[in-house]
Amino acid sequence: MDCNYPSLTILPGTQVDERGNLKFQDEVTQRLDLRARQDRVMAMPVSALTGTVLAELLNWFRWGSATGVMWECTVKELLQLIEHWEEANLYAEIEQYFGSQLKGNLITWDELWTQARAAEASQVRACVCGEVYPYHQRFCTKCRKDSSDGRLTYQTRRGLDTYKTLLIGGDGRSVAVAAFTSRGTQRNIPNLKSVHE
Ligand SMILES: [Zn+2]
Repeated sequence: MDCNYPSLTILPGTQVDERGNLKFQDEVTQRLDLRARQDRVMAMPVSALTGTVLAELLNWFRWGSATGVMWECTVKELLQLIEHWEEANLYAEIEQYFGSQLKGNLITWDELWTQARAAEASQVRACVCGEVYPYHQRFCTKCRKDSSDGRLTYQTRRGLDTYKTLLIGGDGRSVAVAAFTSRGTQRNIPNLKSVHE
């Protein structure tokens, strides 16, 4: 069975199921927990990632729709993933970044995050009383505790403490292209606008 992410089959603990999907052998959730996948790869020694294609890796962790793709992490965490991969693929060629077919312009890192209209999920405060309220509010909506007692985190449709970077008009391949053109240089963390769901 063909797999969409052929280079990733070398990752330890993975297997291709009867429909061609790449999974961890012990991945049991009905609904894919893409953040858990990403955490597991980040915990792997860099040697395990040597020879994988960055675009495949980035696409394996993302959700997708007709309007955009999203990752269960912040851009900073996405950057950490890229750096983890680069450490394992120090002398990688273009193909190892984004696959064999080269199309379109070689977008830069900064261009990607402006042109692709990226956004980040809502930042919120979680109060000790259990209430979740907008991060800029000074007091908890429910118990009136000071906001400094609240934990700053993100919230998406999937719940509290879920992170999501939304990229409209791009995907893992676009991010990999931008990673390729910016390698060896300082990559800025874009100041993304928040989206409320
Ligand atoms: Zn409260």
